[in-house]
Amino acid sequence: MNAEIISIGTELLMGELTDTNASWIAGRLPALGIQLQWVSIVGDDLPKLTEAFRKGWERSDIIFTTGGLGPTQDDLTREAVAAALGEAPVVQEAELENLRQWFRNRGQDMPAHNVKQAHLIPSAEFITNRNGTAPGWWAERDGRHIVCMPGPPGENRAMWQDAIDSRLKDLIDTEVTITRNIKTLGLGEASVDEIISEFFGLENPYLGIYSKADGIHLRIIARANDEATARGMIAPVESAIHERLAPYIWGYDDETPELSVGAALVARGLTLATMESVSGGFLANTITEAPDSSRWYRGGSVAYTPDAMIAAGVDAGVLETHGVVSQPTANAMARAAQCATAADFGIGVTGVLGPDELEGHRPGTIHIAIATANGGPAREFPLRTPPRRLVIKRRSCNTALTELRKLIAEVAL
Ligand code: AMP
Ligand code: MG
Repeated sequence: MNAEIISIGTELLMGELTDTNASWIAGRLPALGIQLQWVSIVGDDLPKLTEAFRKGWERSDIIFTTGGLGPTQDDLTREAVAAALGEAPVVQEAELENLRQWFRNRGQDMPAHNVKQAHLIPSAEFITNRNGTAPGWWAERDGRHIVCMPGPPGENRAMWQDAIDSRLKDLIDTEVTITRNIKTLGLGEASVDEIISEFFGLENPYLGIYSKADGIHLRIIARANDEATARGMIAPVESAIHERLAPYIWGYDDETPELSVGAALVARGLTLATMESVSGGFLANTITEAPDSSRWYRGGSVAYTPDAMIAAGVDAGVLETHGVVSQPTANAMARAAQCATAADFGIGVTGVLGPDELEGHRPGTIHIAIATANGGPAREFPLRTPPRRLVIKRRSCNTALTELRKLIAEVAL
């Protein structure tokens, strides 16, 4: 089933309001097996809205709209649907009474303008709105659908959960869609693309590639009549990705680096400590985003000067010989963090945040180290990032956590 979304409101075209409704609806459709093909924004203009509905009616099995269902003169969604389908809206007495009651419950008289919210065309039914006055419209004719929801997110999301989601499931119960998300870090988008190039361009299973702050994500989407068949279609693509990209894979589906690390540490009863300079606490902050982090995170420090590093247990000789921006310093930070709290792993992160160079190194020069309680040499992860502060912090944090995730599986402790 092909779908499109029309977000309605002149304020969206003026840049005064960001269209969050369309992306929210778009996020619900893959799991329902509905293929979204178009998203458009149309102002509060009857001829343009009517044109949009006519075009949508020709090319899509289902049109979702938000906005333009209010009582005022610029709310024209109902009028445009009626014009596009060539039907006349008629007032519905039962709905009019519902509206009057809604106002009576608030000690008010219903303004005359609200009467238009009780109108319906013969092909449409109302969708109950538990959070507002504007009922939705669900029009259906010749196997095609138009689903109109109010603009306020609190109203359209409730309507979706109460009535729309279940009706869509009934409509599309012949098909299931299964997605699998595989998350990698350490290779660029173009390299990943090249390594698994033969899987791109297929419609079903579909393989998408997305560049995110925590690396390159690959999403496999398969549609079939039942779940087992859809999973069977995903399996060969997933195993090819595994074979070719195993050293770079750190997580799946909704996992974040911190959740993935936490789960792996808890599974083995292990703990972590950190010492960071260049990331300024970003690493500790990210780790503590994991709700169960107190089970596996012992703590950390932000050592922003050589003196602070020495106070936290870094050998002054190492700093003097190699400088702050160096791999031996990162190694010493990782070891000091690990020892200070007797954790199983210690992470050290140093580098240059900028805007100026430090010790002759340009901003974005990063050294990460992971020390383990077995006393072996620290694992070293030098890194270069673009010289922007947030990018430096985010990349060094994600690299440290995803490398730790891979190490947990390998190391004997
Ligand atoms: P309307 O139903 O067109 O009168 O819209 C009522 C309110 O809903 C607007 O003032 C916004 O606060 C909100 N709204 C409308 N459309 C959107 C949208 N596409 N994304 C997010 N909020 C919206
Ligand atoms: Mg509006």
